[in-house]
Amino acid sequence: TQRLDGRVAVITGAGSGIGLATARRFAAEGAKVVCVDLDPETGAKAANEVGGLFIQADVTDEAAVRDLFQRAVDEYGRLDITFNNAGISPPDDDSILTTGLEAWKRVQEVNLTSVYLCCKYAIPHMQRQGKGSIINTASFVAVMGAATSQISYSASKGGVLAMSRELGVQFAREGIRVNALCPGPVNTPLLQELFAKDPERAARRLVHIPLGRFAEPEEIAAAVAFLASDDSSFMTANTFLVDGGISGA
Ligand code: NAD
Repeated sequence: TQRLDGRVAVITGAGSGIGLATARRFAAEGAKVVCVDLDPETGAKAANEVGGLFIQADVTDEAAVRDLFQRAVDEYGRLDITFNNAGISPPDDDSILTTGLEAWKRVQEVNLTSVYLCCKYAIPHMQRQGKGSIINTASFVAVMGAATSQISYSASKGGVLAMSRELGVQFAREGIRVNALCPGPVNTPLLQELFAKDPERAARRLVHIPLGRFAEPEEIAAAVAFLASDDSSFMTANTFLVDGGISGA
């Protein structure tokens, strides 16, 4: 049998990048995958490819988040895994001296409030089963100053990390594990957009990665599948760095 056989997984931001690679990996390991995305085209395409269910939702909308978990459980009868991965990079210069309050708030809402909402509505389903695994996507910038000047982004990811630890500790005795995934730079549309605007920044960043390259989304998906599976059964409230060595250098 496969590692995720019969498991039901919700993935947010499943239409692109890390979420898409993880949807493929989960399905390949036997899971039933609920693909959630704001984008109706890429999200539906992902769900179609992995034979899963697509739910179009904005993960910052509380009613939509509550409904999506209910629909997932209505469709597949349970909820084993939640990968809270949807996120954005600030559109422009994200230095503290230039970031406007509205841009700051939007990043907190999409990257951090969404994780609060998704955990809030995933956990009761997992409590009923006495088991579950939640993986929240933070970033290496949550644990170190990376001189990326992405102030609203880094702050939001620090929040995701701290919240994941708290939840991991709070719900451990109920069989619900919560871990924070901290990827280094990953070759996805999010990163490509950022570096297209500022190619020098890509070069600067590469210098600081001991493995000398960006991660491919599949390498992050492999780590998520591990955290989702029983292979990581003694891990919770963990800061799981998949960063090419950046934080160790
Ligand atoms: P991506 O832009 O390729 O994919 C993100 C997906 O999330 C998109 O499909 C988008 O439509 C969806 N999304 C955005 N806002 C949404 C909302 N409000 N509701 C529902 N869906 C929404 O990005 P990615 O690079 O795969 O990043 C995924 C996660 O990994 C993000 O949280 C990101 O911050 C984090 N991360 C990325 C990198 C990197 O270098 N790419 C590094 C560390 C952490």
